[in-house]
Amino acid sequence: MAGENAARRVAIVTGGSRGIGRACAERLARDGFDVAIVYAGNRGAAEECVAALEGLGARAACYCCDVSDAEAVKATVGQVTDDFGPVWALVNDAGITRDGLFARMRDEDFDRVIDVNLKGTFNMVRALARNFVRQRGGRIVNVSSVVGLHGNAGQVNYAASKAGVVGLTKSVAQELAGRGVTANAVAPGFIETDMTRGLSQEARDSYAARIPLGRLGTTEEVASVVAFLVSDAAGYVTGEVIQVDGGLCM
Ligand code: NAP
Repeated sequence: MAGENAARRVAIVTGGSRGIGRACAERLARDGFDVAIVYAGNRGAAEECVAALEGLGARAACYCCDVSDAEAVKATVGQVTDDFGPVWALVNDAGITRDGLFARMRDEDFDRVIDVNLKGTFNMVRALARNFVRQRGGRIVNVSSVVGLHGNAGQVNYAASKAGVVGLTKSVAQELAGRGVTANAVAPGFIETDMTRGLSQEARDSYAARIPLGRLGTTEEVASVVAFLVSDAAGYVTGEVIQVDGGLCM
């Protein structure tokens, strides 16, 4: 850790070591947050991210934790609070895909995607609930997907998990509003990350042709909406889902 500064707020970003989560972590560090990132096993990427965050002047650390494991989440949140102090912002970005047509989908592929994307989000929010209630304020931002709002052939498990994240977000928003805590979701469309980098050029061109803004989005464009939602400027926004999709799903 570096850059001790008691005035900085603390954020936890799950999935913060790569892709959209890393862009969020870097943006929050630039905006004055100290950042704890949670990753699943790719330690090299997590440590590289921590070094980048420290380079931006933030205190930063990474925690290896499978968000689908409630006990591990509880322990990790306890450790983060010991290391950093009370948490102001939680960004639930950790997510996976295991695609396949629903008629042939294996039970374990359905269950794992729900466990990580939806139950993982629940585990994190629940583990931090007392923290938020005690400080009578805070921000929760959950990363859903346009697929959770509109469906997608070949992604029944992923779409269900991301639709679940929307319902969870609105319910948490209602339960915590009286304590000054907001909960919102972002729903990205096609964003340039490891998740989409595997697509063929033909597939990318065909996606881009369907997007009114004519291109895939960047991780920074998602991070800037997350940064708004955790900021003081968004104090009167809760239970909202903001699509960041270049107009794909109007
Ligand atoms: P990514 O590049 O594949 O990175 C995934 C991140 O999540 C990594 O930090 C990974 O850690 C972590 N992670 C995975 N499983 C985890 C688990 N069980 N516990 C804790 N951490 C875990 O992902 P991305 O493309 O940036 O996507 C990030 C989020 O945006 C996901 O929720 C995804 O569904 C959503 N999204 C993405 C797109 C898109 O176009 N990419 C569109 C809409 C929504 P390790 O590296 O250690 O495994």
